[in-house]
Amino acid sequence: MNAASVPARAAMNATLQRAWSVLETVPDPEIPVVSIRELGILRDVRQGGDGVLEVVITPTYSGCPAMGQIAEDIALAIGNAGLGAHRIETVLAPAWTTDWITEEARDKLRRYGIAPPSGSCAVTEKPIRFVPRSMPHAKETVACPRCGSTHTEKLSQFGSTACKALYRCVDCREPFDYFKPY
Ligand SMILES: [Zn+2]
Repeated sequence: MNAASVPARAAMNATLQRAWSVLETVPDPEIPVVSIRELGILRDVRQGGDGVLEVVITPTYSGCPAMGQIAEDIALAIGNAGLGAHRIETVLAPAWTTDWITEEARDKLRRYGIAPPSGSCAVTEKPIRFVPRSMPHAKETVACPRCGSTHTEKLSQFGSTACKALYRCVDCREPFDYFKPY
């Protein structure tokens, strides 16, 4: 065991707790109704070996231009809370998938007018015995976030960002973004 005193450890725990509560409120730059924690981008908040606060994030889509903005927002939130020095650790494995988006965030996306990713894309994580072989590959059903109709059509593979596809609801005629499973 190292020689860190009990008060020092208690202080660090309090710092980590505050950092968590501050960072949980940092919104995603592209979809401000959901936080980076709800999207699964914020992985961990911990004390590094040198005592510095470490914020662990996993980028969503590779090359997503939002990651630089997210790092700036994290720095701002930590600075405003007076939590002192920090560094951002970017962890690429396991790779982020839309499966990490919380249920609460999926509801928020829907209310915001974005269809959340349907189904699961973590195919490689699943034991092969759960894959029904006889079933034809199901066509992706995307429900309209406004009226719930599944009578929708894809207009474009890319919506407002590369992470999303542009759909249109045939029933209510509204176009909407679909957060593609990834
Ligand atoms: Zn609709």
